[in-house]
Amino acid sequence: MLKFDLTMRLGMYVQVPFCQTKCTYCNFHTGVFSSDLYAPYVDAVWREIAEYPRLLRESQIVEVPDAVVDTVYFGGGTPSLLDPAGLARILDSMRAGFQCKFEEVTLEADPETITPEKAAAWRKAGFNRISMGVQSFQDNELKAAGRMHRSDDVFRATQVLRKTGFDNISFDLIAGLPHQTHDSWDESVAQLLSMRPEHVSIYLVEIDESSRLDLKF
Ligand code: SF4
Repeated sequence: MLKFDLTMRLGMYVQVPFCQTKCTYCNFHTGVFSSDLYAPYVDAVWREIAEYPRLLRESQIVEVPDAVVDTVYFGGGTPSLLDPAGLARILDSMRAGFQCKFEEVTLEADPETITPEKAAAWRKAGFNRISMGVQSFQDNELKAAGRMHRSDDVFRATQVLRKTGFDNISFDLIAGLPHQTHDSWDESVAQLLSMRPEHVSIYLVEIDESSRLDLKF
């Protein structure tokens, strides 16, 4: 049996496979589903986490009695679509089943889904970091990528998050989107820096097989 030592720290990742629309470059294992499925999905994740300590014990494969969960990441998909009470419930199931000393609890959020009410509920639940899918500050690029938000939404959402007390925000940008030029890229980077980000992730556009952009070529 694998044994983790006393200082072992664990990170947990929760995948939320729901999106509002399918971006033109993306063929991730996510989709546009009825919001009726959100609550049952939360229930299923809650159940799995609640049962995991027992399953680990019974599996005789790994023992994690003293390991501490310090990092949690909710990615997607678009986890910010879920009811904040459901997200809080999932975090509570981690606290109940594992030793937790949360240092970084991140929620991926799309700008148009961020409201003052949701941001306040996320803070209350224990989230202390937001990873925002900005991708571009150019509306024509966002439109071509099939994103639901526009650049104004990014400014508005950032203000909401800062006002709510989030002092750790990560911003994603994508290089190589349709319609992007050197100048528009420079402008997006300048706008991004004006947000005073704590962290930035820059991705090269990857056109997934069978995504809408792939099918066009
Ligand atoms: S890029 Fe993200 S938001 Fe867009 S469809 Fe893929 S998983 Fe959903």
